[in-house]
Amino acid sequence: MTRDRAPRLLVVEDNDTNMMIFRDLLVTEGYEVREATTAEAAFAVARSEPIDLILMDVQLPGMDGIEAVRVLRNDPCTREIPIVAVSAHALAPHSKRALEAGCIGYVTKPIRSRDFRERVRSYLGSRV
Ligand code: MN
Repeated sequence: MTRDRAPRLLVVEDNDTNMMIFRDLLVTEGYEVREATTAEAAFAVARSEPIDLILMDVQLPGMDGIEAVRVLRNDPCTREIPIVAVSAHALAPHSKRALEAGCIGYVTKPIRSRDFRERVRSYLGSRV
């Protein structure tokens, strides 16, 4: 797949500080970044423009990130978009739940910038 634009990532994160960290890292990498602080706001973005990868915080106010992944997976508009879960919980049951909901990966906070950059690159894979 060739592209004539930078990869576009949608970051779903309700914490301002974390959002700033993601934005700085991703913009520095040359990606376009879209932001949402709730599941509902994320649905609106994902349905309205091409998104190459979603970073989904698991702990969100209202609908949580896992339920949001299920909604995105069941919507013909958004079901092809790869989603990576982001959570402060490193234990296996948490990552298992995210992968079962349809995430392609699981990243734990706090974010380590070098590792995170490499993982995002690999999640975008041949689509970049
Ligand atoms: Mn959160």
